[in-house]
Amino acid sequence: MSYVITIDGPAGAGKSSVAKDTARKLGIKYLDTGAIYRAIALILNASEVKPLDDDIMREALGKISIVLKGKAVLVNGFDVTGEIRTPEADELASVYSAVPAVREALLGLQKEQEKHGSIVAEGRDVGSVVFPDAKVKFFLTASPEARAERRYNERISKGKTADYDEILRAITERDKNDSSRKTAPLKIPEGAIYLDTSDMTEEEAVNFILNEVKNKVKEAIINETE
Ligand code: C5P
Repeated sequence: MSYVITIDGPAGAGKSSVAKDTARKLGIKYLDTGAIYRAIALILNASEVKPLDDDIMREALGKISIVLKGKAVLVNGFDVTGEIRTPEADELASVYSAVPAVREALLGLQKEQEKHGSIVAEGRDVGSVVFPDAKVKFFLTASPEARAERRYNERISKGKTADYDEILRAITERDKNDSSRKTAPLKIPEGAIYLDTSDMTEEEAVNFILNEVKNKVKEAIINETE
């Protein structure tokens, strides 16, 4: 029996690390839907398709192919896995993902990942729009300050430069865009378990999720993972 676990929440709540680790511990696939939005935003921006040009946007979307190959994201055959992890891609993804045509174009690609077996899907609307029938849904959040601090530490630990105030500003801006947009705004999906990770370590969050999954998914599946 295959099943879907969804983890939604705002930027920097620790969703990616928690979702990846949960998937690894359960021995199932991890679906990073943000990576798909980042990839499409980069290509649309590079093609100078403005978010407001609906007809041009639809035409451009029809010519773009996005393929998920393991951990890599390929756009029209080119590997953009590295390019999508920049502050510029953060902002572009937030802008282009608010466009209904973009969300429509990416829905099928996300849904079809379920066909390849059990997954932990992470995003903004995976529990509400993409996989409304998921077996277990979570909404992971943390205060904007805690999220900005994590992003700051992450960049510094990678040897990159970082400005805490700028990161906090960008996070607050993205929260505003993602929650106030008309199409698929960031919200707590119906039936989702709410988890504030401000004062939690990643390990604590993963353990919390695994416990909840254990309570909800059949014992047989859990036995395979232990
Ligand atoms: O999760 P990540 O930070 O990689 O997502 C980048 C941006 O893509 C988000 O700020 C959000 O605007 C958008 N996104 C979305 N729906 C998803 C995943 C990401 O709108 N399911």
